[in-house]
Amino acid sequence: FERITLPLYQELETEGMWFTVPEEVDDVYNGYTLFNYYNGLKHSLLNAAMMRTMATREDMGSTVFNTKDESGEVKKSHILLYDLYPGGLGFTEKAYDFGYEIIEDAINLVMKCNCEDGCPACVGDYHLDKKLVAWGLKSLLEAQKAPPEVRKVEAPYKVVVEKKFEFEELPKRWGEFVKFLSDRAEYLHSFLSTINNVEVSGNLLIFVTDFKFYERWVLENSNRKKILNTINRYVKTPPTFDIGVKVIEKQPDDIREKIMRRYDDLVK
Ligand SMILES: [Zn+2]
Repeated sequence: FERITLPLYQELETEGMWFTVPEEVDDVYNGYTLFNYYNGLKHSLLNAAMMRTMATREDMGSTVFNTKDESGEVKKSHILLYDLYPGGLGFTEKAYDFGYEIIEDAINLVMKCNCEDGCPACVGDYHLDKKLVAWGLKSLLEAQKAPPEVRKVEAPYKVVVEKKFEFEELPKRWGEFVKFLSDRAEYLHSFLSTINNVEVSGNLLIFVTDFKFYERWVLENSNRKKILNTINRYVKTPPTFDIGVKVIEKQPDDIREKIMRRYDDLVK
């Protein structure tokens, strides 16, 4: 035997949103002791939410949780979607705006899947009857529709972060900013720490680098979005804030000269 010293759980302070499962669905799903139909809801809602927000499995997770009343009795079940980054990266915040559409998408994903009764792709498991999962999803929708003016999707809880950095002072405080991100284990800190200099021009934050490929990487849409989100979270950015890249070419003549000199040394 070996004593386990690592914690068996991970703590993650992040953003999330949840769907509350209606009572009539609880009543039916709880009748199945062998198969967990909540997992079918969780699986299909996560898939639909990832598609709506262009998130990947590394961006968003889902789980089922229960709230209890004063006597400790389980009162409600909820399907929680959450950002997989400390502090969140805005994926579930965006998903929250599409609460209604995500449920509809999830129903379509399940019902239009090529399988007959349910499969790992649509409901996460061969054992779950997809009609029963789709019924549960539809019930979420009805519960939402019931009073049309009120959305049943709960408000996302937000981690309040004080914005410590002024946009204009980023060039001066860049090192400090990167250190701050690294202390918070922000996902992008290691990338941003490879940028030595930034410049501010109007609403643009410009990364100055001599790595040509950074330009493409930074401006690729999902990377750009993650960088913007991370900076937006801690910096008082202007409303139309964006990022740019300035590549400083290493002087090719310099390099050639060095190579030639070395060559000269060799043939001397
Ligand atoms: Zn299927």
